[in-house]
Amino acid sequence: MTQPGDPWCFNADLHCHSSMSDGVLAPAVLVERAAAQGVELFSLTDHDELCGQQQAADAARALGLDYVGGVEVSVSWGGETIHVVGLRINWNDAPLLEGLARTRSGRDGRAREMAAQLEKVGIPDAWEGALRHVGNPALISRTHFARHIVERGICDDISEVFRKYMVEGRPGYVEHRWAALADAVGWIRGAGGVAVLAHPGRYRLGDTALWALINEFREAGGSAIEVVCGSHSRDQFRRFASVAVEFGLLASRGSDFHAPGERHNEIGQLPPLPDSVVPVWSEWPEFRGRAQA
Ligand code: AMP
Ligand code: MN
Ligand code: MN
Ligand code: MN
Repeated sequence: MTQPGDPWCFNADLHCHSSMSDGVLAPAVLVERAAAQGVELFSLTDHDELCGQQQAADAARALGLDYVGGVEVSVSWGGETIHVVGLRINWNDAPLLEGLARTRSGRDGRAREMAAQLEKVGIPDAWEGALRHVGNPALISRTHFARHIVERGICDDISEVFRKYMVEGRPGYVEHRWAALADAVGWIRGAGGVAVLAHPGRYRLGDTALWALINEFREAGGSAIEVVCGSHSRDQFRRFASVAVEFGLLASRGSDFHAPGERHNEIGQLPPLPDSVVPVWSEWPEFRGRAQA
């Protein structure tokens, strides 16, 4: 593995959230933070939403930070929610914008149902409370409910909220149908982007199901996988580096940063990609010279 400070160690952070989805910092503030953390190539990848892209790109340009358009699309596959990151997308692409608008459209009804269920277990005003944390009315997420529940002192941190209320089988969880895998990958590719399977270590899939997911993702046109990311342990960095090599996928690196101090994953502070993989940015002409290894 290259070390920070090594001339081959290029600090790319290609997975982050702003207040336009479930992060807390405005896009321009997030970009300033990335630059201050030594990031050299950045992408804002809000959930199902592109409205922060121009602000992020403008802020990056003003700071001399390289920027590629990004998004994280919510997908339903095999009964699981899967996330597909799109990188180097054209954020004005009409079919992508339309697909994301459709993907977002169920969030309001789902959130109202979540609030009704939370009321029943003694968490009042969850709807109003979550809305106070929402930065973009089109994008209410479980994270906003989680922040409200922590603020009310009902749980100590958002991971406790998720464990107790926001995952399958718990009282605030509402089943939801997101985009189809092939549609999400198709929208990203149609917008000129690269589709990246996000945080594969997080899905509750055994090996056989994971291989099926990766094969289907590749057949749909997906070409990269997150190897070093905020949700993976060091063992998972190694495991998914092998998976990337085995399946001929490019590798991506991203913190999945949402809020200062919230989940111990600061922007731009992850280890570099292992030497065995081909970084996703090595395919992009403007960054080819800065590929690791
Ligand atoms: P949603 O799109 O509304 O289903 O919310 C998904 C978001 O919830 C993810 O992008 C994460 O930011 C957050 N999330 C999911 N699981 C956890 C967890 N266990 N701890 C903290 N945040 C989580
Ligand atoms: Mn999130
Ligand atoms: Mn995700
Ligand atoms: Mn994310």
